[in-house]
Amino acid sequence: MLELRPGCENCNKPLPPDSLEARICSYECTFCVTCVDTVLENVCPNCGGGFVPRPIRPSRKWKGDNFLGKDPASTSVKHRPIDPVSHARFAAGIKNTPPHKR
Ligand SMILES: [Zn+2]
Ligand SMILES: [Zn+2]
Repeated sequence: MLELRPGCENCNKPLPPDSLEARICSYECTFCVTCVDTVLENVCPNCGGGFVPRPIRPSRKWKGDNFLGKDPASTSVKHRPIDPVSHARFAAGIKNTPPHKR
């Protein structure tokens, strides 16, 4: 189950569970769409993978106990701003590698 982390790891912008701006990698490293598009170039600085929009967990109890009331979002902040210069170098190496060999 996703942790639904509370904010962007780079700029610390709040990303509540219903945010349409939250982006996650396969390890759930969490960033805002602005950082993913403008700073990260869709490359996760922690694992080198890409990002997808984070799904929204329902706030209402539509079915069973599968909702935020039972499984609330994480409140543990991970704020580790990236260094843009070294990230650009990292991202370039990955982008120069064919997708099936990443
Ligand atoms: Zn951000
Ligand atoms: Zn990652």
